[in-house]
Amino acid sequence: MRNIERNVLQIMNARATDGDEVVQAENAIFYYRSLVLPTIRSLRLKLTRWYDRAQRDLPWRRTRDPYAIWISEVMLQQTRVAAVIPYYQRFLERFPDARALAQAPEPELLALWSGLGYYSRARNLQKAARQIVEFGAFPNDYASILDLAGVGTYTAAAIASISFGLPHAVVDGNVRRVLARLTNDGHADAQPIADRLLDRRDPARWNQALMELGATICLPREPRCGECPVAAHCAARRAGTASDLPLKRAKPAPEHLERALLLIRRNGRILLTPSLRVKGFWDLPELLERAASLRIGATLGEFRHTITHRHYRFTVKEAIAGAAPRGTRWHTEEELARIPLSTTARKALRIYNAG
Ligand code: SF4
Repeated sequence: MRNIERNVLQIMNARATDGDEVVQAENAIFYYRSLVLPTIRSLRLKLTRWYDRAQRDLPWRRTRDPYAIWISEVMLQQTRVAAVIPYYQRFLERFPDARALAQAPEPELLALWSGLGYYSRARNLQKAARQIVEFGAFPNDYASILDLAGVGTYTAAAIASISFGLPHAVVDGNVRRVLARLTNDGHADAQPIADRLLDRRDPARWNQALMELGATICLPREPRCGECPVAAHCAARRAGTASDLPLKRAKPAPEHLERALLLIRRNGRILLTPSLRVKGFWDLPELLERAASLRIGATLGEFRHTITHRHYRFTVKEAIAGAAPRGTRWHTEEELARIPLSTTARKALRIYNAG
């Protein structure tokens, strides 16, 4: 028995405690045993030929430059492709290489990232760019890529395979879902399966094909099995369980929060304060407690905003402040376009400007 099968069997045996899991485990074991080389070759061939024909034309697919691939991979974490494209193009125009990114003033970097969310990604990009500059070139082996700030196993495998043709299998959410369905197993660790399936002769093409299948055909809620190039290899399709896989993780309970943002103007300028929610960004001051020097005026409107499981309802109010509190700063409207402004401030200002 191959090592991988033995590992899988051990994991399955350890988990098979109730009826359902025993059924799942049997399916997975059956699948692994049946994964003989000709089957894997056939699966690879079908998927990669489909990819050559059906892949979307995306800007980062026109390059193998590790810097550009890295930027695209980081932007694509937690963010849809359509939303990333304009950011990717603007970012590469402004910071075409690691040196330019390493030297960027942080407010400019955050302003360019503004709207993509998860700002620690932008800060880590800059830290890693400085590591690359120090190193003298973009690292070209998996372990050194993994050493860059903010780079995890998925991103390192993506850069290593796509830019350098190194045999590292990627496992992101799309790949995890496809593999859970191909094996009809929501419990198995996806990495060893991905390693086993990886086409070592062309890891870039294989990895991207698997991710593309997850992004365009093997969709989370309604997989389009009728159009799937590897449907004949799919155990979940045979078992009718595709929509149930992968098994859902328990999410944190949603929180519903009410907040008020204050629009305070003086001599054509607007008072801003460092954001309470996103480090490095500016926001409108929030009404946390009534201060004697603060006069609250009319309500201008409201909007909703969600950050992970927190659902906010913001009311935007006009206000007059006697003295600007510590840490706040007055900004002209022209300056607002050049500073990292939070999404909540943007939404509030849109309400103000429409009024
Ligand atoms: Fe996904 Fe359906 Fe293809 Fe299976 S047959 S891999 S569930 S799209």
